[in-house]
Amino acid sequence: MEVDEPSRDETELLVEIVALGICGTDREIVRGEYGWPPPGKDTLVLGHESLGRVLEAPPGSALRAGDLVAGIVRRPDPEPCPCCARGEFDMCRNGRYRERGIKELDGYGAELVTLEPDFAVGLDPALGLVGVLTEPASVVAKAWEQIDRVGAQSCRALESVLVTGAGPIGLLAALLAAQRGLRVHVLDRVTGGPKPRLVRALGARYLTGSVREACGSAEPDVVVECTGVPDLVVEVMQATAPGAVVCLLGVSPRGRTLSVDVGALNSELVLENDVVFGSVNANRRHFEAAADALADADRGWLEGLITKRVPLDRWTEALESQPEDIKAVVEFETPGPA
Ligand code: BGC
Repeated sequence: MEVDEPSRDETELLVEIVALGICGTDREIVRGEYGWPPPGKDTLVLGHESLGRVLEAPPGSALRAGDLVAGIVRRPDPEPCPCCARGEFDMCRNGRYRERGIKELDGYGAELVTLEPDFAVGLDPALGLVGVLTEPASVVAKAWEQIDRVGAQSCRALESVLVTGAGPIGLLAALLAAQRGLRVHVLDRVTGGPKPRLVRALGARYLTGSVREACGSAEPDVVVECTGVPDLVVEVMQATAPGAVVCLLGVSPRGRTLSVDVGALNSELVLENDVVFGSVNANRRHFEAAADALADADRGWLEGLITKRVPLDRWTEALESQPEDIKAVVEFETPGPA
């Protein structure tokens, strides 16, 4: 679909989009299961995982023409709630936040977009195309910030982590765990493709059995659940040892019912002082942490996460996904030297 060129006001950046990452949320929006168009419109421009290059910047901006940037997804609610008022819009309390490409704001899936400087994060030019991983890495950086806060209250330092699901979020969660010096284990159902190799390249263990077996061998202090598969979500809460922290990052399909002894599960969580929490989205601090984590990571390893690259005119191919695939990216142009 053709959209009008954006008109930039002098406080904004004009950004040409280099690439977009595609995730499960985009697939849900395309299936009509999620997402909200801007008020008064019946279309939504997709795209929340962005890599762009600044074309024009306001005078005095820290960003300059030629810089690589990632756009922050969420905008604070208009009221604002106590969290949005502090720039912690990822923790919005009243649900009136907006998200580019997802909720009431057009996304970054256009050749030219405008971006408020406060919502643009400058990237290391050496990152090139893998800078498109900044947004998913920001979600993981926020999760790790929360885990670190809980872990700081524990009587012994966190040592071992189990990540369930070796998709982009799971692998980036494993990367940040490895960067923290933790013992990392990643559980996934596939045995072929690039996932096992990428996990081992982090010095981590790749597991394919059940959650219970994985918890038995990994003895995790932390589980980062990235699949959203209802059975796994329940199993990780049941299988962890006393004092464990379970961070839920996957959004689940609705409608699957399970028979669970909730009393037993509750008692286990209570009597073991377990912590279970959910985490979504990311604010500016997390995007900056993500940009730093990517800059510190091995560039070849990050490139290995991008298993499909399609040009803009074939973007729908990025929506197709097989279990061995990791991240699909729509390339608007080949990123050149910064
Ligand atoms: C995005 C988040 C967003 C969430 C819910 C995820 O795919 O990465 O930024 O908050 O969807 O809309």
